[in-house]
Amino acid sequence: MKEAYLYKKLPGEKVQCQNCPHFCIILPGKRGICGVRENIDGKLYALNYGKAIAVNIDPIEKKPFFHFLPGSYSLSIATVGCNFICANCQNYSISQAPKPDKPVLGEDLSPEEIVKMALENNLPSISYTYVEPTIFLEYALDMMKLAKKAGLKNCFVSNGFMSEESAKLIIPYLDANNIDIKSFDDKFYRENCGGRLQPVLDTAKLMKKSGVWVEITTLVIPTLSDSEEIFRGIAKFIYEELGPETPWHISQFSGAISWKLQHLPDTSAETLEKAYKIGKKVGLKYVYTGNIPGLPSENTICPKCGAVAINRMNYIIHRHDKNGRCPSCGEDLDIID
Ligand code: SF4
Repeated sequence: MKEAYLYKKLPGEKVQCQNCPHFCIILPGKRGICGVRENIDGKLYALNYGKAIAVNIDPIEKKPFFHFLPGSYSLSIATVGCNFICANCQNYSISQAPKPDKPVLGEDLSPEEIVKMALENNLPSISYTYVEPTIFLEYALDMMKLAKKAGLKNCFVSNGFMSEESAKLIIPYLDANNIDIKSFDDKFYRENCGGRLQPVLDTAKLMKKSGVWVEITTLVIPTLSDSEEIFRGIAKFIYEELGPETPWHISQFSGAISWKLQHLPDTSAETLEKAYKIGKKVGLKYVYTGNIPGLPSENTICPKCGAVAINRMNYIIHRHDKNGRCPSCGEDLDIID
């Protein structure tokens, strides 16, 4: 464990965490909403520092990043805990594990050991993922600094629910951020996730403004986040606030692997295609459907001439682009290698 980087001391040995927009006020001996930050004698500690619960080598497309180091693999790291309680969570066995005061499990791995692992496996990047990485900010930041020094890229896969202070701390070391915009309805965020929409939108704008490569993901949940109004709201926000070159991933929900929504059906291909069409109509250059392998909307298509620049079938990637440009007309495809 490590003393938290961002918190305020309050009277009566209380503390207020400054890490995410919950800004939890925590009494001595208690933890915040994420389950991994505890007030011990008037000081806030990150109990999950150096405790990796997941260490995997994943295709970068799994994050998903389609325009950042496409076709590469990324060392993917998580600790237990999360600042959200999404009913649809597929990683609930780790995201909710330590709440409210259960053991904070994980393998003891220092930031140095993780970076060494990435280098030994010739991986170009480290991804902070599976749960909201802001809840392991201290661990991630120490890794990110070492990774940057070693010439590696850093990628956050985030729900975007981080404080401005946290974001500003990581931005100098962050190369890419996939941010979930789960709905365009604050009620959904409050009821399904225990969060709020506006801070997520603010994070996405700040990241983009700061030069971090941003991709957006929306998991489309039948009856909860599958209306045309929601699709249009998200697509317009991306177009107007983040720019038409920002990729939008629209992913299929699967009830069977969700935490609390097993009663809902999987999202149909037709619904994803509806969202895809709305995104393209709004003017987004790169819209992708996810979790249904084989749909042509997984491919990167040149927005100018329509040529297929990157073929995808799940995680089998065939690149036809010429150094990030269209193989047919030479258009810049906003690819970072
Ligand atoms: S990181 Fe955890 S303790 Fe801190 S404000 Fe967010 S939920 Fe609360």
